[in-house]
Amino acid sequence: MIDQRLKSVIRDVPDFPEPGIIFKDITPILKDPGLCEAILDAFEARLQADAIDVIAGIESRGFLFGLMLAQRLGKPFVPVRKQGKLPYHTVAQSYALEYGKATIEIHEDAFIAGTRILVHDDLLATGGTVTATSQLIQKLGGNIAGFAFIISLDFLKGSERLTDYSPNIVSLVG
Ligand code: IMP
Repeated sequence: MIDQRLKSVIRDVPDFPEPGIIFKDITPILKDPGLCEAILDAFEARLQADAIDVIAGIESRGFLFGLMLAQRLGKPFVPVRKQGKLPYHTVAQSYALEYGKATIEIHEDAFIAGTRILVHDDLLATGGTVTATSQLIQKLGGNIAGFAFIISLDFLKGSERLTDYSPNIVSLVG
């Protein structure tokens, strides 16, 4: 099973980036090309590709499998980046962090209104990042087709915040 294979390689790093946080490190996955293929196979099996026009990946770990998945499904990929990183005209969305706030951006010509977007990130925690991404996509007239994560920290209940945007939530490890 893909979840067991993933659990065996995802590394828990205590006290990163701050004391008290246990960080899920996905970099060991990237050293195993067969496992990367298996992740794409699992996403492909669980997603309804004909209901997706574009895949949006969130900086920075969402770029890794976001682009690979877009290639696998034969769909365009668009990056969602932290403020000030995208070179062309952008639309922005700010959101609250535990301490302070963050802003993400997307190119204003990333897609046309009515496009159905699958939002991808490596990990779902509280859901703040993908909620802001969904709001950003909606500002540009996009429709949220669903969400795809490698890991979901289910105890944080982030997926409950996402159902307002789409009921289609796929995560490979809970
Ligand atoms: P959320 O906004 O609270 O759902 O946090 C999710 C965002 O934080 C994603 O962009 C993740 O990449 C990142 N993140 C939070 N915790 C971890 C972790 O343990 N490992 C990898 N990324 C994490």
